[in-house]
Amino acid sequence: MENIYANRMKNVPRSFIREILKVVDDPEIISFAGGLPNPDLFPVDEIKNAAVYQFDNHGKEILQYSSTEGYPPLREFIANRYMEKKDLNITQDDVLITHGSQQALDLLGKLFLNEDDFIAIEEPGYLGAIQALSVYTKNFKTVKLCQEGLDLEELEDVLEEFSPKLLYTVPNFQNPSGITYTNKNREKIADLLKRHNIYLIEDDPYGELRFEGEDSVSFKKLIPEQTILLGSFSKIVAPGFRLGWVVAPKDVLENLVTAKQGADLHSNYVGQRIIYQFVKENDLDKHIMNIKMRYGSQKNAMIDSIKKYFPKDVEYTNPQGGMFLWVTLPNNISALELIDKAIEKKVAFVPGDPFYIDKKNVNTLRLNYSCANEESIEEGIKRLASTIQELVI
Ligand code: PMP
Repeated sequence: MENIYANRMKNVPRSFIREILKVVDDPEIISFAGGLPNPDLFPVDEIKNAAVYQFDNHGKEILQYSSTEGYPPLREFIANRYMEKKDLNITQDDVLITHGSQQALDLLGKLFLNEDDFIAIEEPGYLGAIQALSVYTKNFKTVKLCQEGLDLEELEDVLEEFSPKLLYTVPNFQNPSGITYTNKNREKIADLLKRHNIYLIEDDPYGELRFEGEDSVSFKKLIPEQTILLGSFSKIVAPGFRLGWVVAPKDVLENLVTAKQGADLHSNYVGQRIIYQFVKENDLDKHIMNIKMRYGSQKNAMIDSIKKYFPKDVEYTNPQGGMFLWVTLPNNISALELIDKAIEKKVAFVPGDPFYIDKKNVNTLRLNYSCANEESIEEGIKRLASTIQELVI
């Protein structure tokens, strides 16, 4: 049947990454394409114990419906952690538990965006945000990312010309680029947003995964009344729970609660209780430290191999945390062309294309270093380097 689907789905891109992941199922392929946390670091036994405890002691309670806002002790845990780590003055009343930060993105689109509204987003930007938000509008205005963060002149132009309702950012270890905004860049963005009275989405699933350098100031600290902060258990505990949260100004949060009631009534209660039990009984900081040590040494291995094997005119970011780095090839090389040849050589990555709104055949690509060990990182980068070499000549 033609024309049976709603117009709102017409501009939604398919997940290109899921398509690539299908190809890289081949065990001989060294994949830097995924965006997955390393499963070797999942606290399987501890979570099992937490689950058993909850079922043994609260079985009937945890299997019941519960509140839309989420399990109060878990919301309190999140608020206290922000207070302790980021000096943010928030309470559990400011926190809504969602099904991952991905759901928060969908709910924010539902709440804020009419089909003729504009939204400003980083270029390159998180594909999942582009997907979630393009259900609601096709009016994306991109702002270039540079080493320090957002290009401030471009941001100012976009704010002035289009008055977007929201600015979407991933200021720490951005997906896909690995870039972290400097404090100065954040302060200037905050000033501009204040002046234009625009809400900012501070999507921060990787902020706790800093393996080098100093923590940056949160936008929630700089402009609390205009910041909608998204967090997630996916990268610090496990993504299978699909649990994350939103910290937002009171009025926004109340409206998000209404939007969430229409979507799913509340987030998985069994999961919330198990995660709470897990963080209560275990040292989350120590667990995160293990993740950071592993990702940090894998990132170093990748950078060392890139320095050793890549042609000198290839540029790359050197992230201080998170799971990705971003490569810029010489101008005449298309990452889409490279991926076909790379797969023949049994190495995979994500070409930059899906991270742009309106650019095609770009010369950039994303490399993930969280899942491959140091040995296969060296081998994979060597294979990729020789593939690039062939296209340069
Ligand atoms: N935002 C960004 C920037 C991400 O990279 C991801 C996951 N890849 C998400 C949101 C979604 O995370 P979650 O598992 O919490 O839904």
